[in-house]
Amino acid sequence: MGRTHNFCAGPAALPEPVLARARDELLEWQGQGASVMEVSHRSKAFESVAREAEAALRRLLNISNDYAVLFQQGGASQQFAAVPLNLAEEGAAADYLVTGQWSKKALAEGARFVEAHVVADGSADNFMSIPDSDVWSEQGGCYFHYCPNETIGGLEFPNVPETLAPLVADMSSTLLSRPIDVSKFGVIYAGAQKNIGPAGLALVIVRRDLLGKARASCPAVLNWDNAENNGSMYNTPPTFAIYLTGLVFAWLEELGGLAAMSAINERKASRLYGLIDESSFYHNPVDRSARSWMNVPFTLADSALDATFLEEAESRGLMNLKGHRSVGGMRASIYNAVSEASVEALCDFMHQFEQRYG
Ligand SMILES: *Cc1c(COP(=O)(O)O)cnc(C)c1O
Repeated sequence: MGRTHNFCAGPAALPEPVLARARDELLEWQGQGASVMEVSHRSKAFESVAREAEAALRRLLNISNDYAVLFQQGGASQQFAAVPLNLAEEGAAADYLVTGQWSKKALAEGARFVEAHVVADGSADNFMSIPDSDVWSEQGGCYFHYCPNETIGGLEFPNVPETLAPLVADMSSTLLSRPIDVSKFGVIYAGAQKNIGPAGLALVIVRRDLLGKARASCPAVLNWDNAENNGSMYNTPPTFAIYLTGLVFAWLEELGGLAAMSAINERKASRLYGLIDESSFYHNPVDRSARSWMNVPFTLADSALDATFLEEAESRGLMNLKGHRSVGGMRASIYNAVSEASVEALCDFMHQFEQRYG
């Protein structure tokens, strides 16, 4: 069995050239006589890997020196706690916008550490649209938290919201899918395993004027100042994940950067949504102005056909299309590493399936 078309929501597909290069240099890396996993994180060779990964990310996202770039462990969920611990004193308030399962989880965790104020909650609409900013009730606390792309519901903000407090964004499933204006954000964080690299790593991009506000009880491994002051090496970092992520950044730069990636992603998304919208057999329930480029949930006209759809898809090498357990139906995650050819193969199959069963 060769490599399949992988539509997994996370850990997700990685670019094949990146995996091939990692394979080629796995046993003996950069003349070290050992793999990258087996050398000190303080060695010259590894330090240059970490430095270059940060530099490449800064180039890709055009991150100014007003921002620190941190490589953290613990995934995005750990940042749900790190955000309040780093930005708010005990008893201080923060705004949370709830637009789906992940922003809801961030709120639940954040509420353990701050006076969390819900600005708006899209659950009445089953999280199928973004609550209009006219009805938001901002209080303007230490920060405003939101999730620009809800991975489970497939809901993505078309614009960056204007907020009273510094904007904190969980970009786990959208960072690097297109260019963004980093200067609009106070903090951006993302678990790597969706659109960036392997699991075990989280990126945190934080405006420097927001450093130095961590409460005294903030654990050292969650403390952003501590990470910044130690070059993200306060303790042993996830070296292999940083190395591989650096290879993904290099792959993106070779491709032409985020403008080029964004054009490809837009074509992939419009091909798939186009097929869904033209058919009366497939359905995507999300408000058209807020559809995700990365995660495309859809249902079949008859859910009794779900199992057959998945079985036949798998027999054609179209993997991991089952929807999240909380939503049902199907979900195709079409992150950067999912090629246009994979999306085309999916669309061909969906078209044929509809002709046979629709
Ligand atoms: C996957 C995901 C998370 C959780 O990431 P972990 O690395 O598993 O903690 C949080 N937020 C979003 C938007 C996600 O897609």
